[in-house]
This record gives sequence, structure tokens and C-alpha cells, in this order.
Amino acid sequence: MAASGCSKVCSLIFMTHTFLLHHSKPLQSALAESLTDLPIKRLIFKRFMLLFLLFCTLVGALAGPIYWQYAQEQQERLLAQEETSVVATTQMIQKEMYEQLHLLELLKNSPAMVEYLSSGSTSDRARLELLFKNTANTYHRFDQIRLLDNSGHELVRINMPEGEAQAVSTERLQDKSQRYYFSEAQTLAADQVFVSRMDLNVEQGVIEQPHKPMLRFVTPVLDVDGVRAGVLILNFMAQDMLERFRLQMSRRIDQQGMLLDPQGFWLSNHKRSNEWGADLGQPNHNFATLYPDAWPSVAAQDSGLVETAQGLFRFQSIDPFVFSPRQQTDFRLQHGVQLSDTTLANTAWKLVIFLPKEMIQAQSVLYQPLGRAVLALILLSLAVAAWLLAYNKVHKQLRQRYDQTVTAELSDLYEHAPCGYHSLDANGHFIRINQTELEWLGYEQEEVVGQPFVNFLTPDSQLRFAEFFELLKTEQEIDNIVLEMQCKDGSTFYVSTSATSLKDQAGHFAIARTSVFDITDRIQLERKLEQLANIDALTHISNRRHFYERGELEFKRAVRYQHALAILMFDIDYFKRVNDTYGHDGGDVVLKQLAKTVDDSLRDLDVFARFGGEEFIALLPELSAEQATLVAERLRQEIADMPVVMPSGETMNITVSIGFAMLTAQDKQLDAFIKKADLALYQAKEQGRNRVIEYQGTVTTE
Ligand code: GH3
Ligand code: MG
Ligand code: MG
Repeated sequence: MAASGCSKVCSLIFMTHTFLLHHSKPLQSALAESLTDLPIKRLIFKRFMLLFLLFCTLVGALAGPIYWQYAQEQQERLLAQEETSVVATTQMIQKEMYEQLHLLELLKNSPAMVEYLSSGSTSDRARLELLFKNTANTYHRFDQIRLLDNSGHELVRINMPEGEAQAVSTERLQDKSQRYYFSEAQTLAADQVFVSRMDLNVEQGVIEQPHKPMLRFVTPVLDVDGVRAGVLILNFMAQDMLERFRLQMSRRIDQQGMLLDPQGFWLSNHKRSNEWGADLGQPNHNFATLYPDAWPSVAAQDSGLVETAQGLFRFQSIDPFVFSPRQQTDFRLQHGVQLSDTTLANTAWKLVIFLPKEMIQAQSVLYQPLGRAVLALILLSLAVAAWLLAYNKVHKQLRQRYDQTVTAELSDLYEHAPCGYHSLDANGHFIRINQTELEWLGYEQEEVVGQPFVNFLTPDSQLRFAEFFELLKTEQEIDNIVLEMQCKDGSTFYVSTSATSLKDQAGHFAIARTSVFDITDRIQLERKLEQLANIDALTHISNRRHFYERGELEFKRAVRYQHALAILMFDIDYFKRVNDTYGHDGGDVVLKQLAKTVDDSLRDLDVFARFGGEEFIALLPELSAEQATLVAERLRQEIADMPVVMPSGETMNITVSIGFAMLTAQDKQLDAFIKKADLALYQAKEQGRNRVIEYQGTVTTE
């Protein structure tokens, strides 16, 4: 029972081991419990953050250059769109200025002009006045057309009060010798033209409303002899030209286009309130103030591109009088006109196209709802992937740690279990063996592994094991086989083994996994109990019960094989007297000595027992009647000669009467056979005791 219990424990260890290593359900629930721990959550979160950052960095490193390339192309595409308006606007303004120069030259060289300057006659003056009026009415772009004499006094003047040219009467003509344009005219060579900076027209000290942007074209005029005779001044209204500029800009994507004067004030701006900063006394309404990062490049270079935090600036110098070499040559050839240096400085305008950062970004796919959704999706996917990886990684680590602990614990349990534990291969050779069993056997692992198990068994157990091992090849499990094992030092011990067979893939017996329990104590106890049950406590020879057990075997064998068998029944003569004389203890001494004497005298194969009280019985196999008689006689004599030393110190002798019988073909029952001896004994007593009587009669069955 005890061994069976232990065997169950061992199988449980084995099953737990296998189960824990190969089935994850309890493990998973254990892990799930541990995963709710705060440190583990924190560990997962830390891993997640690391992975997420790593993923983002990787994706950023991969997608960054691609996006940068894309953004560059986007910008280039936007800028390419601007180039058309840059070219068209530049050309438009240059053409406008080119035309005014033409008109200036036309008037300067007209016969009406030359002849009036030569004659000074009233009729020539009227002719010139008419030419001026016609010009003003035809082109509608001049606010005034004037001719001054060499002293700066007006000779002819046309005004455009309500869009209609009107000549000013001679008495209302004024002296303009103090005006800057007259002074400029004095510095000009005969073929030179001066153009003023563009400003707002001022009437009687007040800026005219609505604003009237103005450019003054000034050139000396010559009489018929080529002598310098005055100054021609055209007040050009730039409003239309600026409107055309705005129209060009309004066709652009963002409509943010501007025209700057050389000081960076706006002649035109998408935000009209920024215009004319210098004229309106608002010096802060200036490109340099609003776009400080862009201004140095815009001011210094003819054309180019500046990128600042505010956005992208594409700028281009529009020097309306800096014609291309071809244009310039043509103009000079035709008119021999030169522009003064001041003119060039006054009209060094800049066209600036501004692409604000927000606008550029708005064009980018990342700023579109779909682009943002895709970006968010990518980030979300990265986060999910990072989370899953982090979770699995931590989970796996925990699992490994758990497995290691379990394996270590189970290995320890296996090695130091209270039972032996070993595995045998299909030939019965050790594959592995635990420490406990090794310690029992007194061997080292190397001395055992690979060796046949039978080498460690006593010869009897070797046979038993062979049967058991053969059986295991067909049975799944065999329990509680008792074997006697042989230790290195020659000692032996009893074990109870239980084995489970493991099959290979083909279904053949491959391994026997065996648990071994030391049951030496149990066997010894059983032996002791058996002894107690079989041995007479006083004489230490077999008792009546044991006699029957062994006697039945001998009797049956003799009957079956018809072998000789003699039965002897002893009874001490006058034993009561011994008790009476020497006390009960004295009687006991007699009983013990008699038992020893007979036991020593008989053979091992004889069955000798105390049958009860002072009666003894013996079965003597394989003896003829004569031989049995001799043995009985010898025993009787030995007892009679046996000196018995009493507890009192006295020595005395006893005698016995012996009845014996030989087995015959009629004897079928042991009891009846005993009865025969008993009858013979009775006769021996009858006939005077201290003698041997053989049974002579026939058995009467009752
Ligand atoms: P007989 O020659 O006719 O056999 O005479 P006896 O006195 O031996 O008579 P019997 O066989 O009837 O006497 C048996 C006696 O043995 C009685 C009992 O007191 C004694 N006896 C039985 N068992 C024991 C024992 O274990 N120890 C001792 N000391 N005496 C025992
Ligand atoms: Mg008796
Ligand atoms: Mg007696």
C-alpha cells in the first residue's frame, strides 16, 4: 500500500513535469495573473515606448528623404507656375515704360516742338499746345504735359482735370525752376531722359485722393539749330500699369505678389494698406520690416529665391529701363536716347512673389485630410505593432523564466525525490537515473548509464525483471513489482517498481520510465510478522499453524509423486511432574532444550514443529519405514540422554514417547495421517512410555 502511494507521487511528479513543459493553460493563467502586476505593465510600457520610438525613427529615416524630395518637387512645381507670371509681368512693365519713352521722343522731336522753340510765335505755340492736348486725350495716361524754358518757367502746360485735356492760359503759367525735376533736367545731356521715382501726386501740399501714383519723364528739348531751348515733362499716371500688375498677380495661386521700390516700400501689395509707406509717412510699412529675413537677399540680388520661416520668396528685379542689349541698341539707334543714372536708381523696382509657409504646406499631401488619415494610420499601426511586440517579448521572457524555475524545481524534485527514478531503453539499459537511486546503489552516474538494469539485480530478481520487462512491451503500465537490488558494496535491498512504457513514433516500445521505492523495511517487517505468525515463541521452532502450512505442501508432494513420508508425534512423559517439581519455568527449559535437540538432529528438509503443550511433531520425507524407525529411535535416545539444567541448578533427564506412521496409498488427508501417529503415540504411552511405536492398523475415517 505504501509503495503504491509513493508510486502515485512519483507518477504525479513526472506528469506534472511533462504537463507544465508542454501544456500552457495553467501557465498562461499564472502569467495572466502576473501580467496584471504593475511592474510588468510598466515593463511592457517601457518596451513599447522604446520600440515605438525605434519604429518611428526607422520609418522617419526611410520616409523622411522621400518626403523631403516630394516637398522639394512640390515647391519647384509651385515656383515653375510662378515663372510665367514673373516673365509676363516684367515684360508688361518694361513695355509700358518703353512706350512712354517713345511718346516722349515723339513729342521732343515733333516739328511743332522744334519750330515753336525756334520761332516762339503764338501760332507755333498754339500748334504745340494742340499736339500736347491731342496726345493727352489720345493716350489718357498723362496727368500733365509741360514745356519749360531754360529758366524753368512754364511755356506750355496741359492738365487733365476731368479726364479731358485742358491748356493752361499763359498768364497762369508758373515758374518751376525750384522743382527737383527742373534741377535734374539741368544735369542731363541733350539726348538724356530722367524718370522720377514713383510717388503719389500731391496737390497743394496734400496727397490727392484717390491716390494717383505718378512718374515724371523729363528730357531737354532743342530748337531747330540743335540748341537746348527748354525741358519737356510728362507726368505719367502709373495707376493703370499697377492695376495690370495686380491683375497678373491675382491670377496666381495665392495672389500674394508685390512690387517694391528701391527702398523696399510697396508700389503694389496684395494688402493695399501696406502700399506707399514712404509717401504716407508709415516707414514701418516696408518689406524690410515685415520680412526681415528675406530682405537682405531681395535687396542685394537681381533675382533669386529666399526661404524663411515665413515662406518662400521668388524675387526678380524689374528695371523698366534696363532693356535687353538688343532692345537698348534698337532704341538708341532709332532715338539716340540715354537714361540718366538717377533714373535707373529711381526705378530699380523688384517684383516679389510670396508663397507663405501655410500655403506651401496646404499643397502637401500631409496636410490633406486623406494624407493626415494615412499618417495617423501608419502611426497607429506602428504603435500597435510595437505594443504587440513588447507584450509578446515580456510574455516570452516571463514564460522562459517560469519554465526555468519549473524545470529547475522539477529537476531537483526528480533528482532528490524520496523514490528512485530511472528510464530504460528498449534493451533494458539505463538512459538516465536519479540521484536518490544512485545513492541507494552506491554508484556514480557514469557507472550506471548505458548498463543493463539486470546487472544491478540479484539473480532471483533478474528472472523476475525479465518477465516484467517483456510484459511492459505490450502493457502501458505495470505496478508494484518487487525486485531485490544489488548495491556496489554487495548489500541488497528490496524495491517496488512501477513502470510506464513510452512508444516511439512507429508505436514500438522505446522507453520504460520507472519509479523505484525502497521497501526493504516493509519486507523485513513482513518477514518479522511472518516469523511471529509461524514460529513458536518459546521454542523458536515452527508452530502448529506453520506446521500445517509447510506440512500440507510436503504431504501433497509426497502423495502426488508417491514418495515416502514419515510422520512422528512426540509427547514428554510425565511432564506434569516436571512442572510440579521444577515449576513452570523449569518445564519451559525442558521444552526449549528438547526442541533444540530434535531440531539440530533433523535434516533441513524435515518439517519439525511444536504441536501444542509438550507435544511435538515432525514430517520426514524420503525415508523408508526402517530408516524412519531408526531416526525416531535415535531421537528418543538423544532426548533420554539429554541432561537438562534447571533454573535451580539441578540437572535432570526426561523421556519421550513417539508414535510414527508411514504414508500409504490410502492417505489422502494430512489430519488423518497425523491421527495415525497420534494413535501410535497413544500406544507408546500405553506400553509404558519412553519408546517408539509405529502405527500398524488401518485408518478409520470419521
Ligand atoms: P503422560 O506421560 O501421560 O503424557 O503424562 P503427563 O504428565 O505428561 O500428562 P500430559 O501430557 O496430559 O500433561 C501435559 C502437561 O504439560 C500439562 C501442562 O501443565 C503441561 N504443559 C503444557 N504446556 C506447557 C508449557 O508450555 N509449559 C510448561 N511448563 N508446561 C506445559
Ligand atoms: Mg501430553
Ligand atoms: Mg505428557
